[in-house]
Amino acid sequence: MTESVLVVPGDGVGREVVPAAIEVLEAVADLEFVEADAGDRVKRETGEALPEETYRRAGEADATLFGAAGETAADVVLPLREAVDSFANVRPVRAYPGVDALRPETDLAFVRENTEGVYAGIESEVADGVTTLTRVITEEASRRIAEFGFDYAADNGYDDVTVAHKANVMRATDGRFLDGVAAVAEERAERDAAGADYEPALMDALATDLVVRPEEYGVVICPNLAGDVLSDLAAGLVGGLGLLPSANVGAGNGLFEPVHGSAPDIAGEGVANPAATVLSAAMLLEHLGEEEAAARVRTAVEGVLADGPRTPDLGGDASTAAVTDAIVARL
Ligand code: ATP
Repeated sequence: MTESVLVVPGDGVGREVVPAAIEVLEAVADLEFVEADAGDRVKRETGEALPEETYRRAGEADATLFGAAGETAADVVLPLREAVDSFANVRPVRAYPGVDALRPETDLAFVRENTEGVYAGIESEVADGVTTLTRVITEEASRRIAEFGFDYAADNGYDDVTVAHKANVMRATDGRFLDGVAAVAEERAERDAAGADYEPALMDALATDLVVRPEEYGVVICPNLAGDVLSDLAAGLVGGLGLLPSANVGAGNGLFEPVHGSAPDIAGEGVANPAATVLSAAMLLEHLGEEEAAARVRTAVEGVLADGPRTPDLGGDASTAAVTDAIVARL
């Protein structure tokens, strides 16, 4: 049966890089694409950033490819991740040959808890001029992301697992997170499952160390906000946000999106780097069991990054369309 992919380009460069990724997907796989709307534009038109129909379709599709949302990002991406029943946000960060990376030795992946932490959205104004935010960390979600992270490390050949935390300050919440990871590691060691060794690391010191010695890191398991911030930091090590893909996976179907946002500063100019979204599409193919097609897409992207053409963020002067054509030509 042909698998169905919901396509949500969203705002800004999402409307340029998602069509580019579809062109690539069409060249390697037989998929059925259904397009739906979300983001700032649809909010201006209808009053709603995420139409009910888009939410429902994301739950029904075999996978969703999402571009970006501008001001309404939190109203779109968080519910969409929920619609596909995802609890893990996987963000691989690799330096590619030919790209002028600050740290060419970087090859790591963030596995970010996707459902709680400070992104649970529990904020209140408790008095005039005083606001609060509730940080939610549960044993269940901490154990679930630890199990996923250890499996991801074993399946993808990473020896080092690091767990980011700030349990010296957020004792109850990150203490719970660390306890969850420790319990899972112990159980895995007992049942001889792969990859139960890990290093806890204070997330602020980790930010420095990732810049200084990125080659020391493999999989970094993070609470929600830490994973968001540290992965953007790591983007700077390998040549920028135009290169970073991500997968929101877990219990159900997946949502695949570039790590970058709508990039309003370059939107509409036709110069956005499509690599992050095309590599997200490769993760989508892998999720659908199309490993060979995924590998072909990655090889084609790597070839174009090495030999050009390149978009301006990578020092070139090529358009999104020219880079996309070059990727497709290599398939
Ligand atoms: P948003 O409000 O949607 O998050 P933003 O500008 O705050 O937008 P990003 O969209 O992530 O955040 O962009 C951050 C920087 O990275 C911008 O300078 C942008 O031009 C650049 N950038 C992001 N995506 C790409 C891309 N695909 N190609 C080239 N540059 C990009």
